[in-house]
Amino acid sequence: MKVMKFGGSSVKDAEKIQHVIDIARRAASSEPVVLVFSAMKGITDMLIDAATSAEKGDPAYRRLVEEIRSRQKEAIAALFSRKESESTAKEIDTLLDELSDILHGVELVRECSARTLDMVMSFGERINCRLIAEYLSVSGTPAQFVDARSMIVTDSSHGSAKVDFEATYPLIRQTLSGMEGIPVVTGFIARTEKGVTTTLGRNGSDYTASLIGAALDADRVEIWTDVDGVLSADPRLVQSAFVLPEISIEDAMELSYFGAEVIHPYTMIPAVDRNIAIYIKNTLNPAAPGTRIAAEAQGGSAPITGIASIENVSLINIEGGGMLGHPGVASRVFSALADASVNIIMISQASSEHSICMVCREKEASRAVAALKTELADELRYRMIQNIELVKELEIIAVVGENMRGTPGISGRLFSALGQAGINVLAIAQGSSERNISFVIHRDDRASALNVVHKAFLEDAE
Ligand code: ADP
Ligand code: ASP
Ligand code: MG
Repeated sequence: MKVMKFGGSSVKDAEKIQHVIDIARRAASSEPVVLVFSAMKGITDMLIDAATSAEKGDPAYRRLVEEIRSRQKEAIAALFSRKESESTAKEIDTLLDELSDILHGVELVRECSARTLDMVMSFGERINCRLIAEYLSVSGTPAQFVDARSMIVTDSSHGSAKVDFEATYPLIRQTLSGMEGIPVVTGFIARTEKGVTTTLGRNGSDYTASLIGAALDADRVEIWTDVDGVLSADPRLVQSAFVLPEISIEDAMELSYFGAEVIHPYTMIPAVDRNIAIYIKNTLNPAAPGTRIAAEAQGGSAPITGIASIENVSLINIEGGGMLGHPGVASRVFSALADASVNIIMISQASSEHSICMVCREKEASRAVAALKTELADELRYRMIQNIELVKELEIIAVVGENMRGTPGISGRLFSALGQAGINVLAIAQGSSERNISFVIHRDDRASALNVVHKAFLEDAE
C-alpha cells in the first residue's frame, strides 16, 4: 500500500481538487492507498491573520472567515450537484460557525495563545478533508474522513509539537487498518494525550503522511506538490535549478532544515525507522519520475547535492577577551537562550574563544539579546565581555551534500566564488559531518549568492 499526500498548492480550488482526485483514484485502482491533504493553499495563512486580527480587536477577522466560507462554497458548487451539496455545505458551515465563535472569544479576551492558534489553524485541514472525502464518495469512490487527532499524539509544544511515536503508531494502525473506503486524513494536526489540539509545524502535512506510512509499513510515501521533485535550489530564486532524481535521507533533512520547504524536515524521521522510500511528485506533471529520498540513494557526481537558504535571520555576536579559557560561558549562553525559547539555527566560535556568534530568526532576536544581557550582566559590567552585538536583515545559505565528505577544496572554491562576485560573508559554520557548510550574508545578496554558488558547483561541474 502507499500513502499519498497532496499539499495546499495541489488543492487550491475545485479544478485542482478534481485533478488530484483523478490521480488518487488511478493509484487506488491498483493498490490500497491512504490519502493525506493539507488545507487549501493560503488558508492556513488566512487563519493565522484572522487570529492575529481578533487578538488586536480588529474586526477584519470576520471578513477573513467569510472569505474562507466563500472559497469553500465556490468549491462545493463546482464539485457537487445541488442535491449532493446540501449536507457537505451544512457540515462546513457548522465548522466555520465554530471557528467564528472561537475567534470572537479571542477578540473578547484580546489574547490568542499558541494553544488557541493551533485550534484555529486546525480548521483549514478539517474543512478541506471533509469536502474531499465527501466528493470522493458522491463521485463513486467510497471514502472516509479521518481526523488525525484521533491517532497522532504529541506533547504540548504548540505550533511545532513533538510526536509520541509509541502512542501514535498503534492508534494509526487501529484507526486505518480495515477501514471501509479510502481514508482521507487531515495533515498537520494532532492532539496531546489529554485531547488538546496541536499542530506539527508549518508544512507539517508531509510529516503526517510519513508517520502513517511508517505505522502501516507502507511500500512508499508520495508527497505530491507543484514542482517536479526536490531541486538543486529553490526554483523561484535559481532559474537553472534542476530536479535531483535521488537523494539521501540526510541530504533531504539538511536541505529542508535550511529552507527547502518542498518537504518538512521531520518527514524523513519515520521513514528512516522503517526504511520506507519517500517520493516527491508533481501533480502538474504526474508522469515525471520525481525525486526518490531513500537511505541508500545514489547522489549525483557533482561535489554538492544542493543549496538552500533561510531568510530573515539575525546574527548575535558575543565578544570579549574575558571568555578566553573560562569554561561555562557557552553553556550559560545556550541555556539562557533556551529559557527564552530562542531557536539557534547556526553557531560559530573562533578557536581563540574571543567571540561566539549565533544566528536566530529575526523575530526572536531582540528577545535573545535581552536574555543574554541579563545572563551576562556581571561579565558585561567587569568587561570580561565587551559587547553583545546584533546584526539584522541577514540570510543563511547552506551548501549541502554527502559528496563533500573528505573532498578537499570545497570551502576554497565556495568562498572564492563568493569573493569574486563581491559578496561579503559575515559568519561561517561547517559541521564535522562535512555534509553542510553554512554561511551568513546580507539579505540583499541572497539571489546573487545562490546563483553564484549554484553555478560554481552544479553547472560548471555538469
Ligand atoms: P505544498 O503546498 O505542496 O506543500 P510547498 O509550497 O510547501 O508545497 O512546497 C513546494 C515549493 O517549495 C515549490 O513550489 C518551490 O517553490 C519551493 N522550494 C523551495 N526550495 C525547493 C527545492 N530545493 N526544491 C523544490 N522546491 C523547492
Ligand atoms: N496547512 C499547513 C501549512 O500551511 C500544513 C501544510 O500545508 O502542510 O503550513
Ligand atoms: Mg508544504
